[in-house]
Amino acid sequence: MPAGFQKYKIEKIMQETADTRTFWLSPIGFPCPSFTPGQFFTVRLVDEKGMFKKDEAGKPLVRSYSISSSPFEEGHFSITVKLVGAFTKRLFEMKEWDALEAIGPLGNFCVQEDKMKEVVFLAGGSGVTPFVSMLSYYDKKPCATHFTLVYSCKREKDFILYKQLRTLSHPNIKAVFTLTRAEESPGWQGKQGRISATLIKDACEGRLEGKYFFICGPKEMIGAMQQQLRSLGIEEARIVVEKWG
Ligand SMILES: Cc1cc2nc3c(=O)[nH]c(=O)nc-3n(C[C@H](O)[C@H](O)[C@H](O)COP(=O)(O)OP(=O)(O)OC[C@H]3O[C@@H](n4cnc5c(N)ncnc54)[C@H](O)[C@@H]3O)c2cc1C
Repeated sequence: MPAGFQKYKIEKIMQETADTRTFWLSPIGFPCPSFTPGQFFTVRLVDEKGMFKKDEAGKPLVRSYSISSSPFEEGHFSITVKLVGAFTKRLFEMKEWDALEAIGPLGNFCVQEDKMKEVVFLAGGSGVTPFVSMLSYYDKKPCATHFTLVYSCKREKDFILYKQLRTLSHPNIKAVFTLTRAEESPGWQGKQGRISATLIKDACEGRLEGKYFFICGPKEMIGAMQQQLRSLGIEEARIVVEKWG
């Protein structure tokens, strides 16, 4: 990992859903750091003179974002961001070729291949980002681990990075999509309702023993998922959490 914040250019911006965008970042004048899928970068916004941009309370605009691309995409990486508040409002005003600063990769929300032979990812909305990085990677990299993604959104049009997820083809990867407002997505054939203990058990075909469960997202999502997993008797040691604030 580089010693401090370094300059990146926004190479490309892609609109994912009504309120979510993917930003491809490439380093300015240094090689792109290598990363393990599941890690994140901390990003800060600077003006043309390199001064920190600040929010209305005078605090520097700094936030962390999981990497959403695979390490096989060399020379750059992506973050996929939902428009929420102070930081994301300013980030969404930025354009391709604008510069920002980032430090990373950071964190260890990563699959330990030697220990974790069966892994279940639980995600709602934008919380799917690190899982897209991991699944895109393990779709191509030989690995004995089996992966199940359970991903929930309100409507089908809210699934982010949906195309990447639907084109995963490795036999060890399974993706289960569920909608909490299925009636607003005509023709929906997938699961319906929130991620519940029943849905988790169903996605795991009734076999929970030995599996590791990864949860990612805002604290409300983490709390709700932990409750469901506890009700299924999953020990804390098999629950891996990445809490966003
Ligand atoms: C390790 C890590 C990885 C992260 N990865 C991502 C990522 O890949 N994509 C992403 O969009 N955000 C991610 N976040 C959240 C991100 O850092 C910011 O908190 C988020 O973008 C909101 O910043 P803001 O200034 O716009 O909103 P603020 O004004 O700071 O509002 C923050 C509030 O929004 C809640 N919140 C944060 N993120 C979300 C969200 N996505 N949806 C709904 N509520 C949210 C927080 O719990 C908090 O209550 C990550 C956070 C961490 C710690």
